[in-house]
Amino acid sequence: MMRLSAPLSWAINLVLPPECAWCQRAVADDQPLCDECRQVFTTATSCCQRCAMPVPEVVDRSACVRCRDAGWRFDRVVALGPYRGRLREAIILIKKPAFEALATSVGQLLGDKLLLEQINPDVILPVPNHWTRRLAHRTSTAETIASAIAGRLRKPLWLSAMQRVKRTKKQGMLAWSNRPANVQHAFRVRRPKRVAERHILIVDDVFTSGATAAEMTRCLLKAGASRVTIAVAARGTGSRS
Ligand SMILES: [Zn+2]
Ligand SMILES: [Zn+2]
Repeated sequence: MMRLSAPLSWAINLVLPPECAWCQRAVADDQPLCDECRQVFTTATSCCQRCAMPVPEVVDRSACVRCRDAGWRFDRVVALGPYRGRLREAIILIKKPAFEALATSVGQLLGDKLLLEQINPDVILPVPNHWTRRLAHRTSTAETIASAIAGRLRKPLWLSAMQRVKRTKKQGMLAWSNRPANVQHAFRVRRPKRVAERHILIVDDVFTSGATAAEMTRCLLKAGASRVTIAVAARGTGSRS
């Protein structure tokens, strides 16, 4: 695509007002999403206070069946909402490079939610890809979301603190029972000194079985991190609803 000079793109902005990163409706200059779309992505649902799994409103938020025997070592999962409806559609799109602006908007909304929930990590760490995948895909969704969160929270983004050392199969392609083995020993903390005694925020697009987050948490705590929190755009429920 032709690159526009700064004055030219400014002039085009005057003629073509900024539009919503999701529905293309006109928006105010500093708003990446229109009010309606923002509401769709941020509608609060009743969910488990630990793993963000949707639970019926009548159920106690601390009595989630998924968490009972999970032995999670991270503090909790913060998600914009369950992986369904428009949020699911958006997450499928943001994996494509053409939708980076939407990925950034999703990250900003997640950053706002973290601020609201008073989650205050020292460092932001996206789930890393294996280097062979990095060659094939220039952008990583987790990285784009993490970078937007780091901007909102004004906290450092560490892209190289952790490395994926094993070329794993895509978790979504495997049965839940095979997912922990697929990611076991898949990560390495490259700079343990950097994570030592720090509260780390791991960022990904979706949390479903939790195997990736659990394995990364294990590595980070072993390297001396004090706490780990997980932030994801959506909480996968394992069903297509
Ligand atoms: Zn919109
Ligand atoms: Zn739970």
